[in-house]
Amino acid sequence: MPRRCTVCDHRERDKIDAALVCGASFRDIAGRYGVSKSALERHKGAHLPSHLAKARAAEEVAGADALLLQVRHLQDRTLGILHASEGAGELRTALAAIREARGNLELLAKLLGELDETPRMDVLISTEWLTVRTTLLEALGPHPEARVAAAGALLALEKSRAR
Ligand SMILES: [Zn+2]
Repeated sequence: MPRRCTVCDHRERDKIDAALVCGASFRDIAGRYGVSKSALERHKGAHLPSHLAKARAAEEVAGADALLLQVRHLQDRTLGILHASEGAGELRTALAAIREARGNLELLAKLLGELDETPRMDVLISTEWLTVRTTLLEALGPHPEARVAAAGALLALEKSRAR
C-alpha cells in the first residue's frame, strides 16, 4: 500500500491546492498549513493534476445535468402547451409549440451526445418526435384542411433535415 500523502489527507486540501495553483511558494504554504515542503512538492507533481482534472470533470457533468433537467422541464411545459392548444383548436399555437418541442429535443440530443459518446441521435426519427407528430395529426383529424397543411409542413421540415 502506498504511503499516504499528508497534503491529500489534509482537511484544508482544497485551500492548499488553490494556493499551489496560484503559485504561492512551498515555504509559505508549508508554514501556513503545517505540512512539509517535500510533501507539497510531491503532491503538486503527482496528485494535483489528477485532482484538478477530476474536479473539472465533476463540475462539467454537474453543470450538464442541471442543464438537462431544465431542458426536460421546458419540454414538459412545451408539450403541455401543445396539448392545451390542440384541445382548444388553436392550431397556430400548436404548430409553434411543435417547433419549440423540436428545438428542445435538438438541445437535449446535443447535451446527451456530449455527455456520453454514443452517436448523436436524429431528432426527427426519435420516439418523442414521432409521438408529437402523431398527436398533432390526430388532433387535426376534425380539420382536414389544417391537417393537410400541417402534414405538408412537417414533411417539408423532415425533408429539409434529411442528410
Ligand atoms: Zn497528495
